[in-house]
Amino acid sequence: MAMTVRPEDSREPGVEALLRTLVRDFQETAATTEIEAPDPRVLEAMRRVPRDRFVPGTGAVHAWENHPLPIGYGQTISQPFIVALMTQLLDLAPDSRVLEIGTGSGYQTAILAELAGGVFSIEVVPELARSAARRLADMGYRNVKVRSGNGREGWPEAAPFDAVIVTAGAEDIPPALVEQLGPGGRLVIPVDSRWAGQDLVLAVRQDDGSLRKRTILSVMFVPLIGTNAT
Ligand code: SAH
Repeated sequence: MAMTVRPEDSREPGVEALLRTLVRDFQETAATTEIEAPDPRVLEAMRRVPRDRFVPGTGAVHAWENHPLPIGYGQTISQPFIVALMTQLLDLAPDSRVLEIGTGSGYQTAILAELAGGVFSIEVVPELARSAARRLADMGYRNVKVRSGNGREGWPEAAPFDAVIVTAGAEDIPPALVEQLGPGGRLVIPVDSRWAGQDLVLAVRQDDGSLRKRTILSVMFVPLIGTNAT
């Protein structure tokens, strides 16, 4: 039988090792997160999305390590465990509409697009927005819209959303994002801690419009740029 070496063949061991690391990270943080294990649907999405395609240049060889990596413009592609955890917290259904702030490389965007009906993603660095949009289109994602702008304002024309995810650290939850969250909607955001880094916060919109908040884990993200719209 003739053997053909395809580029994706070298991915498989990398992905499988990464998935095992994710399972272990979920176990090791369970006491704080109150989540014992990754949802199989989230793991399957992580298996399907080739992270090496989102890391520029020579950094791609590190794509299967459970670390953030530089993507240019002083920004980073998030750590896979944090991507999996934040995705799981959103509790997506196949028809969910998701707003993402901080497209960056588009990796988290692709994971969301695997699990949700529509993903609306905003990136403040125009060059990153452009390259992520092109990359996601090339990879065949048809349920994603990317635009460049200040994500603190959200995407009012596409609201309400079932889920909102912010992948940069903010001093507090931008009010526009709360307004654009539908009933029962879930918002995940790193909020600056009094100490170093941020607390990953899950906020769920209640029937009376208030938010029920829970701190999930200490995290370290790049800062959310700019100020809230007034
Ligand atoms: N989730 C992405 C990127 C994480 S880094 C990935 O894994 O690749 C955070 C991203 O948020 C950066 O690309 C940064 O440029 C972007 N960002 C920072 N402030 C923003 C703002 N106000 N609105 C939209 N994007 C913002």
